[in-house]
Amino acid sequence: MSRIMTINLSTADLREKDARHHFHPFTDHKTLGLDERRVITRADGVWMWDSDGNRIMDGMAGLWCMNVGHGRQEIVEAVRAQMSELSYYNTFFKTSHEPVIKLSEKLAEVTPPQFNMTFFGTSGSDGNDTIVRMVRTYWQLMGKPEKKIIVSRVNAYHGSTVAGAALGGMAGMHAQGGVIGDIRHIMQPYWFADDSDMTPEEFGIHAARDLERLLDEIGEDNVAAFIAEPIQGAGGVIIPPETYWPEMKRILDERDILFVSDEVICGFGRTGKWFGCETYGTEPDLMTMAKGLSSGYLPIGAVAVSDKVAAAFHEVGGEFYHGYTYSGHPASCAAALANLEIIQREKLVERVADDIGPYLSERWKKLGDHPIVGEARMKGLVGALELVPDPANRSRRFENEGTVGTIARDHSFANGLVMRAVRDRLIICPPLTITHDEADELIAMARKTLDDTLDTLTRKGML
Ligand SMILES: *Cc1c(COP(=O)(O)O)cnc(C)c1O
Repeated sequence: MSRIMTINLSTADLREKDARHHFHPFTDHKTLGLDERRVITRADGVWMWDSDGNRIMDGMAGLWCMNVGHGRQEIVEAVRAQMSELSYYNTFFKTSHEPVIKLSEKLAEVTPPQFNMTFFGTSGSDGNDTIVRMVRTYWQLMGKPEKKIIVSRVNAYHGSTVAGAALGGMAGMHAQGGVIGDIRHIMQPYWFADDSDMTPEEFGIHAARDLERLLDEIGEDNVAAFIAEPIQGAGGVIIPPETYWPEMKRILDERDILFVSDEVICGFGRTGKWFGCETYGTEPDLMTMAKGLSSGYLPIGAVAVSDKVAAAFHEVGGEFYHGYTYSGHPASCAAALANLEIIQREKLVERVADDIGPYLSERWKKLGDHPIVGEARMKGLVGALELVPDPANRSRRFENEGTVGTIARDHSFANGLVMRAVRDRLIICPPLTITHDEADELIAMARKTLDDTLDTLTRKGML
């Protein structure tokens, strides 16, 4: 049906209208050419088709979100049924409805034991805005209003609203529109980009202790919370050394600050457990969720609220002046519920831990022997390739950072695989449903992409 719906406009027409009227996110509007605009028309499983009929593997699960893959009719049906019964009602003013109640109950079941309540929004970004307001309000309720500072990390991604971008550690975003106050950033656990001679294990401890150092510097009494992604996604799939989170946990256990795990990418099976914090053994007080919560079928985000945080609101009282028109949207909740039922029924979390995760990871890591790959890393089903001119020397980088990443990404698309480039690294995050055969195809396309990139670099004298 989707084919029939798009067939009335040619690719050229679509591109031309897109260029004229569609203001794209995260885009250099001066350089985005007409011919570069790819129009996606339909998708099924891990495959997508563009308006020229090319079949492409979705190695990024949409935008890190389609954990159950494309085209699940069960979700479509659940949404259709909900839309015809109750398309919308709000959850302000003492009101509720069945889909939001059922989803709240389901999330209490699948989240770690300290979580029994959920606040709903529409995205990861607004979820992190909620976090800012919730952690600061929590400390006001606890009689410690001076605890306001939120500690985050350099090169973190926490969304694109002003508060989300301020929490994030991306300088380019801070420069456009400014930041909100009382946010501080510590170093990231990015061993590959560190030029010291520390081992990954030593570096993990060192990076974690940057939190301790900052808390001592600014005074723990001024700090509300520490927020972090278990694995930094948009920053380049930065998988911390195994020593990092245990050392962080030691520090967090000693300090009276809230810990927020931003699970927008790591949640819902991506790392082989339901949540990334479970993979790394931390115990957050709040979790931000979005993306895999509905596998992207409809927009929804949420904040999991621990018993400890909820108790302050219940015991002290006073209105929490915060909510969105679409908090707990019935159709989005129905999509999320159907999505979580698929994850449970098909045992996708276990599948990532015991089957497809190890299967793909073993093959992905072998790409590390390619002459332009400095490191091939993967955890669960999220991974990265560090592209460098000389793998023996990880501190040597390509000139004009980002150029080689873009060349490689374009080769990948041409080879039929969507990988994303983050500066000079390629990243993947496929649907958790990817089969062994499809994983083999992914690896073959990735290897060809590396070969093609090496050819281009050799030809252009860029090595
Ligand atoms: C994508 C992302 C967000 C923002 O989510 P949106 O739904 O795009 O607003 C926040 N945190 C992390 C870790 C993300 O990857």
